[in-house]
Amino acid sequence: MKIAPPVDLAGLAKHILSNECQSIAILSGAGVSVASGIPDFRSPGGMYDTLRPDLITATERERALMRRDPTYVVSWEIFRHNPFPYLEVRRPFILGTQEQTWKATIAHRFAELLHIKTNKLTRVYTQNIDGLDRQCVRIPAEKIVPVHGTMSRVACEGCGHPADYESFCENVRRNTKDIYQQDKQAPKESSHILCEKCRQPLVKPTTVLFGRNLPGEFFQCTEHDLPDLDLLIIAGTSLVVSPANSLVYKIPGDTIRVVVNREPVGFDLGIDYGPSRARDFFARGACEDVFLELIKLLGWKDDLVAYASDLPPSSTALINRNANYGAS
Ligand SMILES: [Zn+2]
Repeated sequence: MKIAPPVDLAGLAKHILSNECQSIAILSGAGVSVASGIPDFRSPGGMYDTLRPDLITATERERALMRRDPTYVVSWEIFRHNPFPYLEVRRPFILGTQEQTWKATIAHRFAELLHIKTNKLTRVYTQNIDGLDRQCVRIPAEKIVPVHGTMSRVACEGCGHPADYESFCENVRRNTKDIYQQDKQAPKESSHILCEKCRQPLVKPTTVLFGRNLPGEFFQCTEHDLPDLDLLIIAGTSLVVSPANSLVYKIPGDTIRVVVNREPVGFDLGIDYGPSRARDFFARGACEDVFLELIKLLGWKDDLVAYASDLPPSSTALINRNANYGAS
């Protein structure tokens, strides 16, 4: 039987809870993490904008290449010869992730509630490297696929040997200098962090460097998940990065697609926002607003409140501000 797409969020909530909907995947992007206050390295004031090659441990030639293209610091081309630029630029992000400076948002908690309440969450495909999905510890780890790798897992880029996350962070704290000059305990000079297996200084978070392949789990999981998917929730992503955006058209032709975003995206991928749309639903707005509303409609608001102390302050404030909130 062909299922009509929801016409509003209440319809979406009803569909999620219906028997027709058994397998749900989420494809998320930077928009779901905005409320956490995490620095977006592409925006003004972000990593690429504020890059100071002169402070980084590198040769003059490497610095010239960074000036020409700031993404060079996160490329395999430089990392394989000189891991310091990556580690020095990423130091606050690595340590901030360990200290949970940034908190999982309402959008992240929606995925966790979806799993706990319905057992219909098949997978979260996140394009974010921030590791915030992993704060939702009640989602089984294998259900979260960080498409572009993650700050929250560590391995040797040379031999693939996994490294202990906590000891790696300690090593970064002790061995990597702070080019942002915020941490008085940081060493003045950087020194190498060696892989315990191959002894090369190539240990790093498993974020995908430019020039390297995506983690194999992306391809394995999509092959497994997509044929049976009933609902794809596309949240906070501009859908411009492939192959992550290929989920949109690799799912079956009658799988319902929901876009949660400030503006419509994915026209070129076939998402239909017109009146004759057969399977697509657009929930316009900031992720936090839309997912808060959806959680209320699903009847999970009390469960969300239980997370209040673990949410970003702006999200907690949003819940408190929400006029209808608390009226059960
Ligand atoms: Zn190694």
